[in-house]
Amino acid sequence: MSDSTLSDSLFARAKELIPGGVNSPVRAFRSVGGAPFFTKSAQGATLTTADGKELIDFVCTWGPAIHGHNHPRIKAAIAAALEHGTSFGTPNPYEVEMAELITRFVPSIKKVRMTSSGTEATMSAIRLARGFTKRDKIIKFSGCYHGHSDSLLIKAGSGALTHGHPDSAGIPASFARETVVLPYNDRAALDAAFAANPGQIAGVIIEPFCGNVGFIMPDAGYLAYLREITAQHGTVLIFDEVMTGFRIAKGGVQEREAIVPDLTCLGKIIGGGLPVGAFGGRADIMDMLAPLGPVYQAGTLSGNPLAMAAGIASLRLLEELNPYARLDTLGRQLVSAVADACKAKGIAVQTPQCGSMFSFFFTDTPVRDYDTALKGDAQLFARVFRTALEGGVYLAPSAYEAGFISTAHEGPAIDRACEVLTGAIRGL
Ligand code: PMP
Repeated sequence: MSDSTLSDSLFARAKELIPGGVNSPVRAFRSVGGAPFFTKSAQGATLTTADGKELIDFVCTWGPAIHGHNHPRIKAAIAAALEHGTSFGTPNPYEVEMAELITRFVPSIKKVRMTSSGTEATMSAIRLARGFTKRDKIIKFSGCYHGHSDSLLIKAGSGALTHGHPDSAGIPASFARETVVLPYNDRAALDAAFAANPGQIAGVIIEPFCGNVGFIMPDAGYLAYLREITAQHGTVLIFDEVMTGFRIAKGGVQEREAIVPDLTCLGKIIGGGLPVGAFGGRADIMDMLAPLGPVYQAGTLSGNPLAMAAGIASLRLLEELNPYARLDTLGRQLVSAVADACKAKGIAVQTPQCGSMFSFFFTDTPVRDYDTALKGDAQLFARVFRTALEGGVYLAPSAYEAGFISTAHEGPAIDRACEVLTGAIRGL
């Protein structure tokens, strides 16, 4: 950004001391060009950069900010909890309330354990599936991102894909052999994998709606088939709803699609903007965890009172407001504005959207898996990204990320964003 002198000097200092200048690679702008801006504050639908520029934010801190940034109710809940201390290292009352809320929102979760990140949730769910079934292999799908643990950083989406390392270095081949990677939305590939590994698949982990290679929805019946085949083989079905939980519906994709997974991973929205993850599901599986069972999993800050207070406030707001129809209206408004502008300009685009998650893939091929997502023109995306940013709209800085909308986008923010994005497309 031309006026981001303070951001530029912060970035120069950061690059000296922090690899790539960022503490999470998705924040880098390498694939869209230019340097990332630094944010000094965030309120509602808006980020304010270190240089004072206001941006309508469709990253929403990568998913958590469904109520917009710095919501007064969440802020007040954190402030109230802070009066009592920041961490106790013993059980605390918030954890019980959080477990009650999660199990009420997501009925397939009978028991739940809190973590401090989504990565810990998925890593622990995989270990639990292995411990429960006494099998080693797992299935994941190309383009799905489940955090950065060794078993799962294979054909991964998100920053791993954006920066050209979907198979991370540093993972022993012997670990990678235990992960079977299949194309998303491909029933025949599932049949073949179960046939080739009889009695060996501990778990299947999937983003039921994929948000980490852009946004992709499953074909009709695909998730039901996955439920059926995993049940047949005694394999634990793990829904990674770190992004989609509480966002696609109050009870996540599993509520919308009426599928009951064995385990579910959660994160983002349940932290209300503080660091939280969780995994839960069938009681017989969860009771394999220490201290009851032999599968070890732990965390110094798990169930942290400030994070629980923020998450509880965020979930209670969802319960009160039931914002899903409103969010879907905003999502439709945004993608139809982009689709119409592309049509007028003769640019091919796919605009998958459900509720407050969306993507723009610049291709005429319908996007239903990793390979078709990669057909999207990333250069064209980068041009739209940069023009939108100049105009005050911040999309995720990668052609392979989903966008997120919050309730705070309702009204002037979404209208202005549509104007800026259609202008950016008209000017291509
Ligand atoms: N699973 C999914 C589906 C995610 O989108 C993410 C993060 N974007 C993770 C797991 C990992 O969560 P975290 O970054 O909190 O470790």
